[in-house]
Amino acid sequence: MAYKISDECISCGACAAECPVNAISEGDGKYVIDEAACISCGACAGTCPVSAPVEA
Ligand code: SF4
Ligand code: SF4
Repeated sequence: MAYKISDECISCGACAAECPVNAISEGDGKYVIDEAACISCGACAGTCPVSAPVEA
C-alpha cells in the first residue's frame, strides 16, 4: 500500500521535504508520489495543510 496525492494539492512542496525516501516530486498541477518508493510512513499526510495525501 502506498499513499496518493489527491487533486486537493496546492503544490506547496511541504510533503516532498518530509518524505524519508524522496518519493514525492512536483507533477503537472500537483505533487505526485512514486508508489514503488513509498513506504507508507504517513509523514506527507501529517505535513500537508490540505490533507491531500491519502492511503490508496
Ligand atoms: Fe513519502 Fe511516507 Fe508519504 Fe510515502 S507516506 S510518500 S514514504 S512521506
Ligand atoms: Fe500538495 Fe499537500 Fe504536498 Fe503541499 S504538502 S505539495 S498541498 S500534497
